[in-house]
This record gives sequence, structure tokens and C-alpha cells, in this order.
Amino acid sequence: MAKKIRIPETDEGTVLYHIDPIIMKWHYEIDYLHSYAQDSPFFAGLSKGKLLGSACTRCKTRFATPRSHCMECGAKTEWMELPLEGKVHTFTTCYFGGEAFLKETPFTLILVEFRGVDTLFLSRLAGAASEEVRIGMPVQAQFLRNSKFKATDVYFVPKG
Ligand SMILES: [Zn+2]
Repeated sequence: MAKKIRIPETDEGTVLYHIDPIIMKWHYEIDYLHSYAQDSPFFAGLSKGKLLGSACTRCKTRFATPRSHCMECGAKTEWMELPLEGKVHTFTTCYFGGEAFLKETPFTLILVEFRGVDTLFLSRLAGAASEEVRIGMPVQAQFLRNSKFKATDVYFVPKG
């Protein structure tokens, strides 16, 4: 007869949602390889203090965001440099946010209009209290010194 051997156990329990079949809480966390694929030049541009949009090669519609094909006519686009100055098209102040931004609330999001560009760019406005923000207010892009290759590498400030 085998000798009874006990391995160490913990006092932790299991969160059970259902018994048949068993459905339980199971913590899951991974590092994964994320690709920006065809949008990579946009994020590389942020690290160099540049904003890249896309321009249709056929109908010449100009987009303030990465876009491989034109949403007006379907033709391919090519990269173009956006101006670093624009104006506030609209804005909202967020008093609640996703987990990544919660500790930064309240913050103001703006949609930026650029001269000669047909769509808007979503970004954060810094350096202005929410009651100071106005539609049409001139703003200027600034970039994090240490790029994280994320859309939050760029933010706007009131043009001084
Ligand atoms: Zn087009």
C-alpha cells in the first residue's frame, strides 16, 4: 500500500459561475506580438514629431488618419504629412474613462480640423481648462519626448 503523501495546498478558493458544465473565473494574462501592419508609418511618424494622413490617388480626398483605401471611391491612398496646427471642430471633457485613462480624468478630447484635409483627427487637448475650450480654437500638435508608438504620443495644446 502506497504511503499517503500530501502536497502543500493554499487557502485560495475558486469563483464558480455555473456547476454543470463548470464555468469558473480563470485569470488570463499574456504578452503578445502586436502589429500595426500597413498603419506602421503613422506610428513611426509620431516618434519623429510628424502626423501622417492619407490622400486618395484618384479623387484626391485627404484623410486625417491612416487609410489604405479611399472611403469615397475605393482607390489606393498614399501617405501625406498633415499640418501640425489646426482648430477645434468639437470637444468633450471626460470625467470617466477606460482603465488606461481613468487616473488622468478629467481630460478633454478634441476633434481637430486641418486646413485642406477632409476628415477630422481625434486627440487629447492639454493646457486648457474645459471651460476655456471653444469650437474654432486654434491648436498645435505636441509629441511625447519618449515615443510609445501609440496614438497617445500626440496631443494638442492651445496655439500660443
Ligand atoms: Zn478617392
